[in-house]
Amino acid sequence: MNRNQKAKIYRLHLKEQNRCPNCARQLGKDDNVKCKRCLELTRSYAKHKRIDRQKQGVCTSCGNQKICNNINIHTNKPSKNLLCEVCYLKLVSKHHLGTSTRWVELRELFDKQDKKCFYTGVDMTIGINASLDHKIPKAKKGNNDIENLCWVDWKINLMKRDLDMNEFVVLCKKVISHRIALGGEMGLPISLKPEATRSLA
Ligand SMILES: [Zn+2]
Ligand SMILES: [Zn+2]
Repeated sequence: MNRNQKAKIYRLHLKEQNRCPNCARQLGKDDNVKCKRCLELTRSYAKHKRIDRQKQGVCTSCGNQKICNNINIHTNKPSKNLLCEVCYLKLVSKHHLGTSTRWVELRELFDKQDKKCFYTGVDMTIGINASLDHKIPKAKKGNNDIENLCWVDWKINLMKRDLDMNEFVVLCKKVISHRIALGGEMGLPISLKPEATRSLA
């Protein structure tokens, strides 16, 4: 039996006796897994580590030097919470799907879409403008299956909100058709009137 296995058995033994796995102190009613003192130490260690990494400009979660989200596109300012691509995808997975474990699937979906927005085809970069969307939104009982997910430009996600895929496309078409029908000063700016948009009218 190696050292790690021995330590693991010792921790299990402590757990059975309702003792802190770090310091073996007896746990009270309010304690959860660790004693208060050890919990505090762990938290303050994690906090200092995060601040340290922030200063060094590396991923605050794992220390990786390759950062993907250095600019916050919403504010156009340097991001505060710097993350590497993997940690960023884990965060997206946790936020949208309730578990960080599906980050690999999300990465594969991004590649499958050729790094382009599902609706507009614009180029996307993870950590900069790529945003995860539910084709049928959760508010309309859409699920978290990969078939119901797509990567879209973050501006599209702001516009789409709780619309489903069809409602959103129909709405976009209405906007374009109406602006073209108005024509002249009231219509689309000249620069937005190529053949491609005219065919939508
Ligand atoms: Zn303890
Ligand atoms: Zn990381």
